[in-house]
Amino acid sequence: MSARSAVFTRLREAIEAYPVIDCHEHTIGPRGAPENREPIACLMAGYVISDLLAVVYPGFEGARPDLETYLLDQSVPTEEKWPLLERLWRQMEHTAYARVTKRILRDVYGEAELSLAALQRIRGRLLNLRDPAVYRSVLDRAGIRCRLVDIWPDMKAFITGRQELYERDRLLISLPAFHAVRTWQNVWDLAQVVDRSVTSLDQYLEVCFEIIRRMKERGAIGLKDQSAYSRTLAYENPPRADAERLFNAMMADPRGALGWPEAKPLGDWLFHRFLEMARELDLPVQLHTGHMAGIRNEIAKTNAVLLTPVLELHRDVRFDLFHGNWPYMGEYLYLGKNYPNVRLDLCWLHIIDPVYARNLLREGLGAVPHAKFHAFGGDYGDDILHAAAHLAIARDVVAAALADQVEEGWIEEGEALRIAADWLFNNPNEFFRLGFERFEP
Ligand SMILES: [Zn+2]
Repeated sequence: MSARSAVFTRLREAIEAYPVIDCHEHTIGPRGAPENREPIACLMAGYVISDLLAVVYPGFEGARPDLETYLLDQSVPTEEKWPLLERLWRQMEHTAYARVTKRILRDVYGEAELSLAALQRIRGRLLNLRDPAVYRSVLDRAGIRCRLVDIWPDMKAFITGRQELYERDRLLISLPAFHAVRTWQNVWDLAQVVDRSVTSLDQYLEVCFEIIRRMKERGAIGLKDQSAYSRTLAYENPPRADAERLFNAMMADPRGALGWPEAKPLGDWLFHRFLEMARELDLPVQLHTGHMAGIRNEIAKTNAVLLTPVLELHRDVRFDLFHGNWPYMGEYLYLGKNYPNVRLDLCWLHIIDPVYARNLLREGLGAVPHAKFHAFGGDYGDDILHAAAHLAIARDVVAAALADQVEEGWIEEGEALRIAADWLFNNPNEFFRLGFERFEP
């Protein structure tokens, strides 16, 4: 299919008006928004910096070890940063991360390309996202009806009602802190959230359950775990005795710490207990799989196929597997096809690799029930212009994948419109029990 085919153009136009459930963000609302003073700092926020860093080989002329903080520093003048940025930009400007920057420039500020002159023109009129009306209008224009957020709030403040969420956000409870306990202090800090003290593994589980239960009571809608950054997704199922031995040793010496992989049996064992809590409290579980933010990560440990024993054991737990498991598409589609308790969540994926995302949806349409896809999550921070630009790219990808299959003769155009509505809105609305009325195009 040519990207400008008539079918694509019609689908893309219709999908532009669809409401979207944004299945994954790290943003707390206007009060967390950056104070936008310097345009390079605004435009290079988020993932694009990784592609800039990936260009810098050893001995790259003009490179500096503090490249990231330098470019994102609002107090360094645009004119000073520009020569280095320009040299890097010309070597990576066609990645999808860079496309987000280009779309913000074009769609928000009306500038056709990144140049010093363009940056100087927009410097005085950067949007003030701290203004609640401006913030809301960005989300409204993007069509983001609801966001599922992973924002690591002060749990005690959240439980006691001292920390409110932004009006259209729903909270996910971040799991890693609960099962990556390595020190007496880690345990103590968590116990303080519910004013308890802990001296045994049983008491620790009680504290965790109490925190999760009370966060659910305050509106949290699920659990989220991105442990794949720091450990393998190969969770084994060790006996309790192995976990308890490690836990007791940790508690017996407040000055000691468990190392890795020494602590793995404790982390593995606890992870299963948290999944049992998810079952008991009827909370879906979002899991990071595949590509990681930043550079110099290790990918093999994040392949979702490593979760197979977990998915088989915990059949009553609803899993939402993230990021298209990039770059392991075949395994990902297999898991979606094979396990009724698995949903496939394409958050972040459209700007990691838009062609992969398009192929995943196109291939997935024939291989996996279309009810199992959650098509969008911005996965950005507080500068929400980036999430909005990402969503525009995601709408392109969804329209292109469906146009491919219409032109193949696999589906009708009217079916394509209904599938897009399910992928972007109805599927996550039902799965996460968000309670919105179904969207019928
Ligand atoms: Zn994320």
